[in-house]
Amino acid sequence: MKLQKKHQCDECVKTGDTWVHLRTCQTCGATLCCDSSDNQHASKHAMATGHPVAISAEPGEQWAWCYVDEQIVGY
Ligand SMILES: [Zn+2]
Ligand SMILES: [Zn+2]
Repeated sequence: MKLQKKHQCDECVKTGDTWVHLRTCQTCGATLCCDSSDNQHASKHAMATGHPVAISAEPGEQWAWCYVDEQIVGY
C-alpha cells in the first residue's frame, strides 16, 4: 500500500480550498479529497484516469475503496 507524502489534498492546496477527509490513489500515489469534501477530487481523479482503488489516508483507518466495483475493502 502506498502512503501519502503529505497530509493534504494536492488539488485543493492549489486552489486554496478545504477538504473533509483524504484518500490516496493506489495506482499513482496521489492524495486527494473524499466525496464528503466539496471538490471530490479523489472521485474525479478516478473517473479521469481510470485508477480504480483509493485507500483512506486518515490515521487509524484501514480500508480501500474500489471505484470500479463501488465496494469497500479492508486490509
Ligand atoms: Zn481536493
Ligand atoms: Zn491515480
